[in-house]
Amino acid sequence: MVPCRRLGHAAAACLLLLLILSCAGPAAAARPAPAHGRHDGAGWHAFKRLQDARRGSHVTGLRELKRYLATFGYMPAGTAGAEHGGGEPTDAFDEHLEAAVKRYQSRLSLPVTGSLDAATLDQIMSPRCGVEDDHDHGVSVSPDHHGGAVVSRFTFFKGEPRWTQRSEPIVLSYAVSPTATVSYLSPDDVRAVFRRAFDRWALVIPVSFVETDDYDAADIKVGFHKGNHGDGVPFDGPLGVLGHAFSPKNGRLHLDASEQWALSFSDGTETSESIDLESVATHEIGHVLGLGHSTSPHAVMYPSIKPLQKKADLTVDDVEGVQQLYGSNPDFRLSSLYNEQDTSMAPERSSWVASSARLLVGAVSIILLTHL
Ligand SMILES: [Zn+2]
Ligand SMILES: [Zn+2]
Repeated sequence: MVPCRRLGHAAAACLLLLLILSCAGPAAAARPAPAHGRHDGAGWHAFKRLQDARRGSHVTGLRELKRYLATFGYMPAGTAGAEHGGGEPTDAFDEHLEAAVKRYQSRLSLPVTGSLDAATLDQIMSPRCGVEDDHDHGVSVSPDHHGGAVVSRFTFFKGEPRWTQRSEPIVLSYAVSPTATVSYLSPDDVRAVFRRAFDRWALVIPVSFVETDDYDAADIKVGFHKGNHGDGVPFDGPLGVLGHAFSPKNGRLHLDASEQWALSFSDGTETSESIDLESVATHEIGHVLGLGHSTSPHAVMYPSIKPLQKKADLTVDDVEGVQQLYGSNPDFRLSSLYNEQDTSMAPERSSWVASSARLLVGAVSIILLTHL
């Protein structure tokens, strides 16, 4: 028989091991996936030299990083030197930059270190949507179907604007510009991609999307544009910012014509800088409907996407967000999505549980052997 004191030691060791394992899980999941190939759009690759910079550092290029953080809503608009009474930002890593980096890390679900670690720089250099990240948060916590709680990560534009019409259900017309195009994609292919992307949203909310040839009269106007294109938000060339869209009821959805847009990653035409058109189209339609950026890295509404990555399937977070604005499509059951996503996550979760159990058994055996 094992004395109680020894069992106490074993239980304490197991508890400690459990604590370490449970901390390691979510932190690992929050890290961005490894980059595919180069992603050096619009000079963002130069941020690489800022690696490991932290409060007190003075590194050439920090002023550009401050402009980047200001562009996406993490520092005062204009220049990041405004906190010192205006003027150009400097290359000094001060407390204001540290606070902005922490806000960025928190919104992108990265470990909040306040320094420019490798994971943070990798995220900063990734291609992303041009819409800033400063939005109103949606519902904070809601019960999940297992009896636990889920932190909702979707957001809305300030004031929560949405489309409304005199009679419901809402019907929105959309058109793909016949002139703002990219030469290497056929108009039919582009229209098919957008039809699928609109269908994903129409499936979950009581809103229909009808394609029209009358571009000027359409509620939602889709087009590929280069550089300065008349809306005050110029595009930046290959990678960097991929596209942007305006909140309801503006209806403009623009994609950067300088990108290497791909319809598929298996037709032999893809390169290390190819961007999936359907994923970005689905994301930008979310903005057109009134969603801001989600902090969930799995969500379609997360602000960045890697080259060669496909992420067009709506997650529970995307669906709950848009349904908070428009209600649910009567034919849609959220439980179907839960089951689908639970199934796809099951192997990873069960293998983690199995390996944790194996470690625990091993630890208990070692402790018992050394104490007996
Ligand atoms: Zn976006
Ligand atoms: Zn634009």
